[in-house]
Amino acid sequence: MSVPAADTPGLERMYPYCCLGILMLIGLGSSAWAQAPDTPQMLRAETVADRIWYFRGESGQASAANQGYTSNAGFVLTDDGVLVFDALGTPALAQAMLQAIRTITTKPVRRVIVSHYHADHVYGLQVFKAAGAEIWARGEGRIYLDSDLARERLSERRTTLAPWVDERTRLLPADRWLDLRAGESMDFDLGGTAFRLISAGHAHAPDDLMLLVVAPRVLFAGDLYFNGRLPFVVDGNTRGWLLDIEAMRALQPRCIVPGHGDMSCAVDDDLRLTADYLQFLRAQMGAAVEELSGFDEAYAAIDWSAYADLPTFEAANRRNAYSVYLEMQVEMLGAAAEQAR
Ligand SMILES: [Zn+2]
Repeated sequence: MSVPAADTPGLERMYPYCCLGILMLIGLGSSAWAQAPDTPQMLRAETVADRIWYFRGESGQASAANQGYTSNAGFVLTDDGVLVFDALGTPALAQAMLQAIRTITTKPVRRVIVSHYHADHVYGLQVFKAAGAEIWARGEGRIYLDSDLARERLSERRTTLAPWVDERTRLLPADRWLDLRAGESMDFDLGGTAFRLISAGHAHAPDDLMLLVVAPRVLFAGDLYFNGRLPFVVDGNTRGWLLDIEAMRALQPRCIVPGHGDMSCAVDDDLRLTADYLQFLRAQMGAAVEELSGFDEAYAAIDWSAYADLPTFEAANRRNAYSVYLEMQVEMLGAAAEQAR
């Protein structure tokens, strides 16, 4: 999960927190710790369903120690080639991903779907592009590409993730920018496999995009889904996030691969937890704004016991609450202006 939009003021501020909270090292990712830091790590694909795999990034923030492997990606094997979802956070990781794919099939990678333009999901795009894949993303991804945030992030990563991100690492635009508004979806077929792209609106980033593999009902949700823990609200768009959750429910996915952390097949429980939590934040912070209470005072008076034992509560809750407090101020000011007309 990671960053937000270029033109969204709290994004950069919140970015370092997007990837916090996942506390376990999992799978092959842990090999990075055993290897010399200058040895690219090997990735192993985890099976999701028949002909569907994912790569499970490590916990915590991107660092030279984990080689930037902090997000997930996945791929689907079709009769005509491979469809990849997200490209990981460095070209070296994408190369490792490609090698892992090559152990499963010699078919070409035809297409890469970008869940959203944040550094930890897109710095590997150039590897797939060079391998002949076509990149698809929502048009709103251009907001990030055109932003100072994107340039600053790349500059920072060339330092913090050296040598894995360097002067040759580039931000690639999509080959096809999709014009999908909130609530819209788009079906396509690749090699006899049916896919659906879903744009439920801006929740984590302006270009949030999910991919459903239709028959097995496996959903790649990018940074819109959290399993068994609190979400990182990031830039205060809980209204959009609740719409996304409804869109996910309507898809009735059997399993969801999130942008970070383990795949989950307890979809109903996870969606209920996230939705209940976001609604609780909106109700509590909405009441505080209505009563003109200060944030600290309001936060201290709220009974958080329903959520306090969940992983990521300490890391995420206060920041989430503050983000929603600001969001509710904006919503109420907007409503008041409307009434005054
Ligand atoms: Zn993100």
